Amino acid sequence: MAEPLARSVGAPTAEALGGHLGLETVGDLLRHYPRDYRRRGQLTDLSGLEVGEHVTVLARVASVRHRPMKQRHGFVVDVVVTDGATKVPLTFFPRHKGALAHLQREMVVGRPGLFSGKVGAYRGVLQLVHPEHHMSGSRDGDPGADGTDDLAAEGAAMDDFLTGVLPIYPATQGMQSWTVAKAVHLVLDTLREEDVPEPLPDMVLARHGFPGLLDALRAAHRPGHPGQEEQALERLRYEEAFVLQAELARRRLRTGTQTAVPRRPVDGGLLAAFDQQLPFALTDGQREVGQEIAADLARTAPMHRLLQGEVGSGKTVVALRAMLAVVDAGGQAALLAPTEVLAVQHHRSLTAMLGDLAGAGTLGGADVATRVALLTGSQGARARREALLQAASGEAGIVVGTHALLQDAVQLADLGLVVVDEQHRFGVEQRDALRAKASAVPHLLVMTATPIPRTVAMTSFGDLETSVLRGLPAGRSPIASHAVNAGNAAWVARMWQRVREEVEAGRQAYVVCPTIGDEAPGDGGGDRGADGPDDRVLVSTVAVEALLAEEPSLAGVRRAVLHGRMPPEAKDAVMRAFAAGEVDVLVATTVVEVGVDVPNATCMVVMDADRFGISQLHQLRGRVGRGRHPGTCFLLTPLPGDAPAVTRLMSVAATTDGFALAELDLETRGEGDVLGARQSGARSSLRLLRVVRDGHVIADAREDAAEVLAVDPELRRHPALAGAVTELLRPQHGQFLERG
Ligand code: ADP
Ligand code: MG
Repeated sequence: MAEPLARSVGAPTAEALGGHLGLETVGDLLRHYPRDYRRRGQLTDLSGLEVGEHVTVLARVASVRHRPMKQRHGFVVDVVVTDGATKVPLTFFPRHKGALAHLQREMVVGRPGLFSGKVGAYRGVLQLVHPEHHMSGSRDGDPGADGTDDLAAEGAAMDDFLTGVLPIYPATQGMQSWTVAKAVHLVLDTLREEDVPEPLPDMVLARHGFPGLLDALRAAHRPGHPGQEEQALERLRYEEAFVLQAELARRRLRTGTQTAVPRRPVDGGLLAAFDQQLPFALTDGQREVGQEIAADLARTAPMHRLLQGEVGSGKTVVALRAMLAVVDAGGQAALLAPTEVLAVQHHRSLTAMLGDLAGAGTLGGADVATRVALLTGSQGARARREALLQAASGEAGIVVGTHALLQDAVQLADLGLVVVDEQHRFGVEQRDALRAKASAVPHLLVMTATPIPRTVAMTSFGDLETSVLRGLPAGRSPIASHAVNAGNAAWVARMWQRVREEVEAGRQAYVVCPTIGDEAPGDGGGDRGADGPDDRVLVSTVAVEALLAEEPSLAGVRRAVLHGRMPPEAKDAVMRAFAAGEVDVLVATTVVEVGVDVPNATCMVVMDADRFGISQLHQLRGRVGRGRHPGTCFLLTPLPGDAPAVTRLMSVAATTDGFALAELDLETRGEGDVLGARQSGARSSLRLLRVVRDGHVIADAREDAAEVLAVDPELRRHPALAGAVTELLRPQHGQFLERG
């Protein structure tokens, strides 16, 4: 399975599979499962196509027309294909008469074929842009175009249309479903039982009545009759859950054997003093979670806890109280933030909340006081030296920083607790690097405002205990959200008027844009269209800044721009000015997405809101309504009201329940995104498992895996399973584990 593909499919095809789909080994190819199966003659429902998708459809030619090009040599051939009901136009551009004749021989009205390409829309009509095709009865779809002549020559170009079931593979421009199918057939034909080690223990196979791996792979790729693939896919799906759960069980067992220094707060200590000066009562949720954490910290096994809480639920106070308990017990705590803006802000707010208690060694510092040090990558040499010294000497009980904290130069006297804020930006290695700075294993508290459905928690955070901080601090005002059509000038004007009203009432607003706008042409900054009307020009901070300067209702309003590519000092200066109320309207990218806390900001406008995910929008609007005044959020979109993306916006506008939105997000976006695959551009190793739908599979696998690992924690008796776990942890696969 680990064998490179070149040996079985030939170098050109192997190279193409690697380049286009990232498939390197026989195992990679065999785990590239069909995403759909077409029965013979069962055409794809063309009404279900979505703009922007790359699809492979089975359809019949309905009409063919050609005309010469006006400006250049060559022809335009308009082909319409149909599923019997919906029609989709395709356009081909043969360069010369020979190519035209070849195309006309293939495109016979009534003939079925596979067509593959990106779905575009032109004047409201769906079309396939630059499609590739493979017609029924042809030996090779597009000779030479995809570098697969060697396969055809081998006689491997079976006609998929003649077998009972036609697998449709996830494909891309340049690597078509039918080419993948041919390669899979070649590989399957030469594979022997001993080439395919079985990762599932016998006990598990027997318990579920699953077929062996080789049989399952054969049936998944080449079902002999319709429906035969189902049992195979069920097993392969379970296998994904099982291998993952085996790794998580191994981690849990390993953590259980580590020892940490128990940290108990002392009477009359820092925590007690802090609680006494707190200007508000803790919510019930904060008190409960605080007790859970205190109990964890008092144990000799390291804490490993995920704290989930809605934006504004008061996680920072909970974390600070845990840190103070550790300082009371003679240790230090580190707080890691995903961005400099957040690290600086955390440092500022912790220092402010602590007041005198953060003034150790200074005039007016309380007896029990400590210090809060800040370490970022961009701070000046002097400030950095000072902070490093405070961390190393133990003078700073709390050290706040970004990943710069992970650098070797940073020493901590006695690190007892690591708090990671908005952890999804931090990987396992970073976590381990930080823990390596402590002589004993430090306790770990991971905080996230992105509500995580239970099944996702079981997969991505399976080695963490979870706490949920429910309820918001009293006196919080709800956020009202509205979807606004950008094409409706009256509504848009009214919206800016609302922003004006907030500013006049002494409050502040964010205007969030999907792009910065300073991208060099063609650098993929996302704000320029390539081809197809869907690649619209997205609103940028630069464009909005210009727009607002002209907007009559915003005359005299103080504006500033904030985005990730500004120099750190400039960013910090803008954030400071906004926090101090010296800026009324902050035009920003999603740098304000997490944690930014300016309670006086009450209004947010999200430009091109359809370009953001559901959870992201929820996160974003959490920036307003953090104070006494009600928050308002406008979700602007140029799309018509019946577009699916607008339906999503409506859902976001309709509820403030983060957990409900997270579930919806999971359903609409699919796992790959949720597990981080899209962000990294890599393939997820979870190909079949769907964490929303397959909760019971995950739960079963979790139990089975725990049972197997309990008697064989290092998997000595299950080498194939150990191999599968190692494979799972390959960097390009393991990214979703990094979320834990
Ligand atoms: P989170 O990090 O969960 O988004 P924060 O910890 O930043 O939330 O808290 C948001 C705001 O609410 C802060 O200004 C904080 O001081 C305040 N806050 C926290 N806990 C309470 C409470 N129990 N009562 C009133 N205000 C609180
Ligand atoms: Mg926070």
